[in-house]
Amino acid sequence: MRKVIFVIGATASGKTYFIDQNYAGRDFDILNVYDYQQRAYTEAGFRESIPFGEEFRCLLKAQNMLLEDIVARLQAGRDVVVEQTFYKAKRRIAYIERIREAVEASIEFYVMCPSDSQWEKNIENRKLDGRFEAFKRNMEDFEFPNPAEGIDQIYEVVDGIITLRMDEPKPEIMERAKEELAKEAERLKAEDDKRRRKKELLESMETRPFWHYCEVCGKKEFVTAQEADDSGWDYPPRRGSFGVLSPRTCGNCCMVGTLYMKILAPGRLPVVLESELTPEELVTWRRIKGEPESLLKESPTQ
Ligand SMILES: [Zn+2]
Repeated sequence: MRKVIFVIGATASGKTYFIDQNYAGRDFDILNVYDYQQRAYTEAGFRESIPFGEEFRCLLKAQNMLLEDIVARLQAGRDVVVEQTFYKAKRRIAYIERIREAVEASIEFYVMCPSDSQWEKNIENRKLDGRFEAFKRNMEDFEFPNPAEGIDQIYEVVDGIITLRMDEPKPEIMERAKEELAKEAERLKAEDDKRRRKKELLESMETRPFWHYCEVCGKKEFVTAQEADDSGWDYPPRRGSFGVLSPRTCGNCCMVGTLYMKILAPGRLPVVLESELTPEELVTWRRIKGEPESLLKESPTQ
């Protein structure tokens, strides 16, 4: 029977060292979740910094790439050692289910639980930023693996001492984890749907007629972007971008008198303070912020 060994624990808890000591040079494929994370970031086009919200998706993608790699190697007849963080039962369960479904394998977990003094030393040696308390606080989320998750053997590793630790099975862990996974999948799907609808809407703005409002003379016209451009409108998507402050004027008016000019006035920070706007400017500002949706229906206020 094939074997897959997960070595899990917090940052600097000694996972890599443990793997080097026990599995390097032996007949195991060694995989590390960090490599997959780096690959996911690179593939998504992020090098230095990752926008908030994208990171979660990258990490999830890395998890899936690693999982599929584990399955492929087991199916190819290899035994695998995997370095993972795996704080949450739900992440482990997703892995275990997929592996069990694909191949017959024994699944073992080694959980790095260093003493504070050893852990602090590791952090120091690796010159990691941040206070030790912060590392420890991070660890408060850690859910120690339970046999109910479908793991064959669970070992606790304290400063190199390995002890079998099979806690009392708690089936409710599975229920909760599955609920969490279902909620997560639902949330991601809702986000995807929202993004898709937004993209479709933006594409449709190239061809559909929509309301154009001149913020200087008050003229309004329900025309396409092409028609507006032909008659001299200064309006997104041809000029400027939806939702971003720039002039919104008809062919007869110029920039003078636009909210954009007021905000750009010399000696002022280019920041919109709603309390400093006239009622008319406030209407313009809110409409711009709400673009392109705000241009689909005629606004009764102007
Ligand atoms: Zn005008």
